[in-house]
Amino acid sequence: MLVKVDPLKPVEDILRKVADLIKEGGVVAFPTETVYGLGADCFNISAVLKIFQIKRRPADNPLIVHIYDIKQLQDLIDQDYEKACAIMDVFWPGPVTLIFRKKSYVPKEVTGGLETVAVRMPSHPVAQKFLRLSGTPIAAPSANLSGKPSPTRAEHVIEDLYGLVDAIIDGGETPLGIESTIIDFSRERPILLRPGPATIEEIQKVIQNLEIPEFLLKKTNEPTRPLSPGMSYRHYAPEKPLILVIDYNKLDEVLLRYPDAPVICAQELVSKFYGRRTVVLGTLREPFTIAQNLFHVLRTVDSITASAAIVVGFESKGILFSVMNRLRKAASEIVE
Ligand code: AMP
Ligand code: MG
Repeated sequence: MLVKVDPLKPVEDILRKVADLIKEGGVVAFPTETVYGLGADCFNISAVLKIFQIKRRPADNPLIVHIYDIKQLQDLIDQDYEKACAIMDVFWPGPVTLIFRKKSYVPKEVTGGLETVAVRMPSHPVAQKFLRLSGTPIAAPSANLSGKPSPTRAEHVIEDLYGLVDAIIDGGETPLGIESTIIDFSRERPILLRPGPATIEEIQKVIQNLEIPEFLLKKTNEPTRPLSPGMSYRHYAPEKPLILVIDYNKLDEVLLRYPDAPVICAQELVSKFYGRRTVVLGTLREPFTIAQNLFHVLRTVDSITASAAIVVGFESKGILFSVMNRLRKAASEIVE
């Protein structure tokens, strides 16, 4: 079933039919403010296993459980969440996922075998209504095939998963465009596991003791000790080689090496690549546009006939810190 809804005012009767599929153990792709999710009832193990099978996702890569009401948190977590209240007050509903120790009955299939569970309360009107009508927390990773860029449009979901899922809800383009910020509150000190649309600077205004692991700050891509299983997989990658250039002094050398490669960059840089095919990500004046378009652009570069694609990196701050995190994972080579 493929249904189209108004992202701001989705018709309830349409969503109810799709929510019934969740109740029957189905798997449904739905829009959120970050990316499209592929959801199933988090307490229905066989439905959850279908998500892994459909996406070809490794079983140890945990899912995020989506709720619409804070009351649902009690059914999922087995700890005092006072430390996280300030963050919830500011960022929920919204693009922040929080990790807590799980209730014993939350299936280990959802959490990749971990004793913790990731929970998020999305703000997208379609996601909220869909969650309410489904009547159960919905476990959902991004609705793409494992390894491919996350889907920010229903067309991306259709490209990857059409015919494999019970329903796709088309709610248009997702407004934020990259996956949620993840903060782990299951330990003594809150720790950032994935940068996202809620920036480090914004989070630090709310909690002063946020730990930012070395691997997110350093040049390396991966944690030395896997804090979060999903982090050890290559992600978001186009089919063709993607060269991420961070040191602008080395740009000419890379351009010479790949004479046919399109250059992906901010609007402000386009004029520097005269005679070369360019793909605009967005504008530095409104860096959120860069996050919004990122995964769509990473998908479209594969339709350009060329041996590789070059992407010009950004200064890692604000939302562009999160964009650079995704680009590092997507790149086959990093020039810095
Ligand atoms: P996706 O929504 O496809 O980006 O996948 C969800 C991601 O959330 C996973 O890849 C993990 O990195 C992270 N995650 C989910 N649950 C946990 C958890 N219990 N502990 C640490 N990270 C988690
Ligand atoms: Mg994903």
